Amino acid sequence: MLIRVLGCSGAIAAGCRTTAFLLDDDVLIDAGTGVGDLSLDELARIDHVLVSHSHLDHVLAIGLLADSVIRPREAAGRPPVQVHALAPTIEALRAHIFNGVIWPDFTRLPSAAHPVLELVPIEHGQRLQLGARTVEVLCASHTVPACGFAVEGGAGWWVYTGDTGPNAQLWQRLRDMRVAHLVIETAFGDDEVELARISRHLCPMTLARELAALSGPLNAAVDVHITHIKPGELDAVMSEIARQPTPHRVRALTVGRVMELGAAAAGQAAQAPYDGIGRLATG
Ligand SMILES: [Zn+2]
Ligand SMILES: [Zn+2]
Repeated sequence: MLIRVLGCSGAIAAGCRTTAFLLDDDVLIDAGTGVGDLSLDELARIDHVLVSHSHLDHVLAIGLLADSVIRPREAAGRPPVQVHALAPTIEALRAHIFNGVIWPDFTRLPSAAHPVLELVPIEHGQRLQLGARTVEVLCASHTVPACGFAVEGGAGWWVYTGDTGPNAQLWQRLRDMRVAHLVIETAFGDDEVELARISRHLCPMTLARELAALSGPLNAAVDVHITHIKPGELDAVMSEIARQPTPHRVRALTVGRVMELGAAAAGQAAQAPYDGIGRLATG
């Protein structure tokens, strides 16, 4: 399994794209502006979109993707792209994006019988089986209902926090999971600690407390990747983080980074045959 970073910035500027990760070639995790770098063929191979929350920087490419892939997916006889999100996030997408004003309702286009998008509700704690891949929906604490995602790999879980402030429930859960990679947000610098608090994001000083909570018998020293830093703030935020003592290996996430997760557990692969197209072999 491979995860490719398409976008990991808190906003846009040249070279900065908002949150999107591609798991193998058919599962998109968040749909920020980074999705726009995929070719039409790559876009058409996406069968699942996992959405952490309703904020624009994470959802704006869903509708644009739908528009791009209608014809190629129809020609290939592909089913609707499944968009997995919490029920309140689905309500928000219906009310505020796919409402016929901001964007057409692609859950009824090109036809209500065979739409290009299908919105599928998920819940915190749920385990999704996407082909051979197991993904757990994690808790997040943000200004709107939100979640993170954990993808099970051979050497441990790839964990993405989504947008979140301090999140005790997450650390409680991760105590029982071996974390191979933690992708965690730090949206603000310490000079904006109050803004971080009210917008339920992290800044370096609150990140330090979160990473202390990650440490445990299973997670003594984890590869930690900082995401969602605003354009222009990267050096300042990373130098504030570097001043904090931590047992973990902390670095800034970069676009184009590919993380190898190793093979999924064999038992799970046997239970759920893969249903995607043109995918890399599990490994
Ligand atoms: Zn957000
Ligand atoms: Zn965000």
